[in-house]
Amino acid sequence: MSAAPAYAPRLDTLAGEGAFQVLADARRLEAQGRHVVHLEIGEPDTTTPPHVVEAGVRAVRDGDTRYAPPAGLPELRAASADWLRARGIAADADHVVITSGGKPALFFALLALVEPGAEVLVPDPGFPAFPSVVRFAGGHPVGYAPAYGAAGIAARITARTRVLVLNSPNNPTGGVLSVGTLEEIAELACRHDLWIVSDEVYSQLVYDGPHVSIAAVPEVARRTVVVESFSKTFAMSGWRLGFAAAPRALAERLTCLVVNGTSCTPPFVQRAGLAALTGPQDHLAETVARLERRRDWLVDGLNGIPGVHCARPGGAFYGFPDVRTLLGRAGLSTEQLAARLLTDHGVAVLPGTAFGPGGAGFLRLSFATSPTQLDLALERIRECVSELAVAA
Ligand code: PLP
Repeated sequence: MSAAPAYAPRLDTLAGEGAFQVLADARRLEAQGRHVVHLEIGEPDTTTPPHVVEAGVRAVRDGDTRYAPPAGLPELRAASADWLRARGIAADADHVVITSGGKPALFFALLALVEPGAEVLVPDPGFPAFPSVVRFAGGHPVGYAPAYGAAGIAARITARTRVLVLNSPNNPTGGVLSVGTLEEIAELACRHDLWIVSDEVYSQLVYDGPHVSIAAVPEVARRTVVVESFSKTFAMSGWRLGFAAAPRALAERLTCLVVNGTSCTPPFVQRAGLAALTGPQDHLAETVARLERRRDWLVDGLNGIPGVHCARPGGAFYGFPDVRTLLGRAGLSTEQLAARLLTDHGVAVLPGTAFGPGGAGFLRLSFATSPTQLDLALERIRECVSELAVAA
């Protein structure tokens, strides 16, 4: 029998995602009877708030199970715009395009903005979908270190740069860009005539005051696509709901990508999203307070381990400890340490390199899990580190 015909070469430009790979490895170990502490996957450990679940279920029961308008239900587009306006972003309902999660919003925005050969600035370390989708669109991702602020971005701008991807709070570092830095970046984007794709899926999970969006800086909204998601804010990762907010003309083109890609986002999922945006918000304050306690617990625990230094993240739910001293002493690579933690000690973490070369020497640990699991993870990491110290 002859082999199947070749695939389109563009498929080779797409990368997978470390978190899903490590989760699969961890599940294999569990199937062999091993116990694993899961700190690899980036999602809240809570369930979707009951009033949100109820709204979704009621919509299914009421027969809201047919095609919806491709750009989203008018009520949800309006509520999303209100939500952005409350954060100082000048958005109307027709700027908002509802998508099946933050990822499609990101995917469609980059497909719409990246022409072949264009350079796109992406955070490194940063979310792996950024460089992957840029390559898929025919562009060249150029990494910048988010910790160096506007200067780090300015140094990487060339005549071919078209788009700047921002992610504050950042996955994996939890770093939050200050208002001053955002203003400097906004000035750079205007001076170099760049589009900004601002991934703000962790905007509500911040520990030092409210989140500030670059789209709130005057002059910048007309060159910015804000990507938002219900996954992290409302513990709705499995519902698949997010949106892009873009200038009106671009929003229409993004809608065309939705028409061609998914037709629409399920209406009953959108009804649940509407309840999330317009219903009681107390769960959010509770979630942030709980995550903050866990953050401090994990960061303090990690900083008590020799050879490990962990900065206190200002947002998201990841610790991103620097383990370079430890790696140097033990003669291990970042990936080898992460693999050893999983295979020999039953702690699933991600190597920083899953987020680009800038993540070498770091690990990413999600603290969106119970204190008992965090304690167990810290105990096992300590055990691994002392074993490495004895062997060195
Ligand atoms: N952007 C960032 C920075 C993320 O970390 C994630 C999920 O981990 C997403 C986008 C995708 O979120 P969603 O579940 O809404 O597709």
